[in-house]
Amino acid sequence: MHQLSRIDTKPPAGVDKKATKESTAALLEELNELQNLLYAEGRHSVLVVLQGMDASGKDGAIRNVFGNFNPQGVQVQSFKVPTEEEKAHDFLWRIHRHAPQRGMIQVFNRSHYEDVLVTRVHGLIDDAVAKKRFAAINNFEQLLQTHNNTHILKFYLHMSVEEQAARLQERLEDPKKMWKHNPGDEKEAALRDRYLAMYEEVFEACNQPQWHIVPADKNWYKEHLIAKEICHLLRSLNMQYPKLDA
Ligand code: AMP
Ligand code: MG
Repeated sequence: MHQLSRIDTKPPAGVDKKATKESTAALLEELNELQNLLYAEGRHSVLVVLQGMDASGKDGAIRNVFGNFNPQGVQVQSFKVPTEEEKAHDFLWRIHRHAPQRGMIQVFNRSHYEDVLVTRVHGLIDDAVAKKRFAAINNFEQLLQTHNNTHILKFYLHMSVEEQAARLQERLEDPKKMWKHNPGDEKEAALRDRYLAMYEEVFEACNQPQWHIVPADKNWYKEHLIAKEICHLLRSLNMQYPKLDA
């Protein structure tokens, strides 16, 4: 059982910032090579799901971890409030068309999980529908894994209430961040406990493949953990550059 209130949002004591950043830089270099291999081999695909509340650092993770890759091999898709057309379809319709091709890394900035998170926090769906959606999500993720060699990494960026408040306040004060300010964000932040409860249910119901809960109060630590997980996955695939045809 994942009880988020008991999981740290800060790096463990003793983790050194400078050494961690150096290690991240090395991981990013290796990742660049591995991504080239993923693309060249064209057998596997990777789907990275980034979830977290407003200001949890999803955009920063995309910039600082995936910004390093060859742009031809990575795609990023952000999922916003569904459009009328999207709402007229099943909730996975808009998601599935962004599933990665073999050879590609696809990043989801928010995802199909919003359909069992924000929708529940606001009472747009009831528990019975949520349960059916969990099953649909599990089947969908299974489909991608089984039928397109898609490896799915799901990250939840876990931030403290204090850090969230500080970051939202920054958006009101820092001219470079004001564009990110959304009057709805404070209201959502006030619903934090509801969100956490809904996230906890998601981690129980949709944990195959498993969720990675990332302490996200420090960007350098968050970025390190994400880079490490992706590197770990790509190394494990035993990929080979294709040879010349005989
Ligand atoms: P942002 O990621 O900050 O640009 O905001 C996107 C907004 O879209 C967030 O408030 C999400 O909760 C919302 N959103 C994303 N997907 C859905 C969905 N399936 N249903 C309702 N709201 C959504
Ligand atoms: Mg936002």
